[in-house]
Amino acid sequence: MSQDFLRIAVQKSGRLSEDSLTLFKECGIKFDSKAGKLKTTSSNFPAEFLFLRDDDIPGYVEDGVADIGIVGENVQVETGRNVDIAKKLGFSKCRLSIAIPRGDSYQGVQDLQGRSIATSYPTILGNFLKENEIEAEIHEISGSVEIAPSIGLAHAVCDIVSSGSTLLANGLSEVEVIFKSEAVMIAHPSLSEAKRAILSKLLFRIHAVQTAKNNKYIVLNAPNEKLEAITALLPGMKAPTIVPLGTEGWSAVHSVLSEEDFWDKIDALRTAGAEGILVVPIEKMIY
Ligand code: ATP
Ligand code: MG
Repeated sequence: MSQDFLRIAVQKSGRLSEDSLTLFKECGIKFDSKAGKLKTTSSNFPAEFLFLRDDDIPGYVEDGVADIGIVGENVQVETGRNVDIAKKLGFSKCRLSIAIPRGDSYQGVQDLQGRSIATSYPTILGNFLKENEIEAEIHEISGSVEIAPSIGLAHAVCDIVSSGSTLLANGLSEVEVIFKSEAVMIAHPSLSEAKRAILSKLLFRIHAVQTAKNNKYIVLNAPNEKLEAITALLPGMKAPTIVPLGTEGWSAVHSVLSEEDFWDKIDALRTAGAEGILVVPIEKMIY
């Protein structure tokens, strides 16, 4: 008999762990995440959490040991496992880049021809080299990749970069971005009907949390004669809400603004005559 709960694999401890746990908590899913625990069951959602090394997660999800999991896209692509991407999650953004010793000349990818490159991502690097018709030797190492050129192991490295400070500290400079990554929710490709129903409930909650983060609730005062121009600037979930104010000839306008063009919209609203603009974070957005 299949059990009607979703088994979720998350990284035990690392750069994905905290944001993954926060996401589930923001979705109202309660569970005990005490350090050191390898498995826990939610008290209010049909889910069980497994805490694993991130490299192992795609394999477990492919095999059905876990139903879904959170990993960096870089790991998902590198492992080449047959899993579905259920959702991009927007955190742990980073890139996979090729870097060479600072001061070495670099005109373009052809300069990598015949060189050796140290990496923990042989598949993604191999694909990149193939696409660019470059023959280079790939040295697979599992960690501390940045040290490779200075100890004579390789000419270049291909590694994860976010701020670039690690490269800088090791005297390297980034010359090619070969892959952009963020955390993704992966899923077993053929989940049972019951598990799919739980997953879609979870994805619905994640969507509400993510949408809320990308939007702000705003309240502003507008002279009635300028209402039309002001409301034309506002999307709202359906249309902005307009409430008459105690002061004759004025109204309060309630609406939602996207984080993306937030400041441009605020400037336009002020120019159109809006005053006393309040901006409030939204916790969940459901529609
Ligand atoms: P594990 O012990 O679970 O194998 P790990 O050392 O392989 O952990 P982490 O360093 O915790 O992995 O990174 C996990 C994922 O976070 C990476 O695969 C990548 O997607 C992302 N990541 C790595 N470095 C950064 C960074 N500097 N900034 C943002 N995201 C990053
Ligand atoms: Mg790992």
